[in-house]
Amino acid sequence: MKHTLLTITLFIASFLQGQTPKFQGQPPVERVATESKPTQMQWKGDFTFTDSDVIFSNNFEGARLNGVLKNNDNTFTALITSENTPVNMSPWYSFKIWSAQEQSIELILTYQETAKHRYYPKLSKDGVNWSSLDSINYTEYEKGDADFGPGSLPVKIKMTLDIGPEVLWVSGQELETSTRVSSWADTLSANTFVQKTNIGKSEQGRDLNMLTIGDPASKNMLIVISRQHPPEVTGYLAMKAFVENLSSDTKLARKFRKKFTVYVVPLMNPDGVDNGHWRHNAGGIDLNRDWANFNQPETRAVKSFMESKIKDTKGKFYFGIDFHSTWDDIYYTVDPKLKGNMPNLVYDWLDELKKQIVGYDPNIKPNDQIEPTTVSRNYFFATYGAEALVFEIGDNTPRDFIKEKGKISANVLMKQMLKRFK
Ligand SMILES: [Zn+2]
Repeated sequence: MKHTLLTITLFIASFLQGQTPKFQGQPPVERVATESKPTQMQWKGDFTFTDSDVIFSNNFEGARLNGVLKNNDNTFTALITSENTPVNMSPWYSFKIWSAQEQSIELILTYQETAKHRYYPKLSKDGVNWSSLDSINYTEYEKGDADFGPGSLPVKIKMTLDIGPEVLWVSGQELETSTRVSSWADTLSANTFVQKTNIGKSEQGRDLNMLTIGDPASKNMLIVISRQHPPEVTGYLAMKAFVENLSSDTKLARKFRKKFTVYVVPLMNPDGVDNGHWRHNAGGIDLNRDWANFNQPETRAVKSFMESKIKDTKGKFYFGIDFHSTWDDIYYTVDPKLKGNMPNLVYDWLDELKKQIVGYDPNIKPNDQIEPTTVSRNYFFATYGAEALVFEIGDNTPRDFIKEKGKISANVLMKQMLKRFK
């Protein structure tokens, strides 16, 4: 049933594609300094008001709420600011609201100068299960007319919210904090062939979890990383589905794990995630610009880990993937004229994915500038010969499609890699 729905949705999507503009991808990455910079930590606690029983709180992991103003009895304005600047347009927010009396309030969401509203509000009663705010309770102001990117966004928005003694969570994307990621990793490591270890600590001392799926002595390796950028939850959700399928109890996955071992860092930036940062780690740095300099503990930990695996096993990394989120689904690949340890793997994989998902046309942007390495994909390819790519999921891609795509991607990859590895 679910699959049928997905097929219909994709059929409609492909039917509309003639009129739908395609996301053209990000401009080339520029090399920047990656020595630590100060960040602005948000004040944490409950925001209360005179003559009002409404309380806002940012006192939890993953929160971002920097100020609230009471305009009148039932209207409030919230301010969301970034950890430092310059920063890209990914203003993330998350807070809780409650009040003694049942009531309806209007909340205007504003951002620091030049930032605009990007993430559609999601609501939750428990911080775990989310639903999108009903569109009748949502108003955008000064919306841009571009198809993608900052020019497509409104400057601010207004939400109408029904609140009461029960806590209401409001969040830019689902809250997938370091605690939740770690407990997902624990669940997966209940399998005898999965081990959860740490490869180091973040700047603020949080564990950098590593999942080993398969035999740690194997010479044939894959590297999977996710969530260098805190708000990029949809990329994380795709990574989860992908990794769960590599760890599944199917004949294909069992066969795959006999030949290959997958190493997964599910949360590259736990400090950024738990502090609600828009982009950077606790050192104020975009981790995905530090794969040439390695000034930050999170990127350094992965580098040391990969180096030690090569030294210990005398093996090879055949595939490297880094999951992100952006304006729409897109794959940033290494130009096919550059050959790694399994030439054309990525292109044959994406071709097969296109065949397996009815109406799906992967948006692929190859890149031949891989030095200096700067970003993880280039580091995996240039240093180890791993066939590498950035797997980007749109902010608003339907969650059931993300799951399905993650799952099919894993299956097709396993088949392609086994086929080449006789
Ligand atoms: Zn990203």
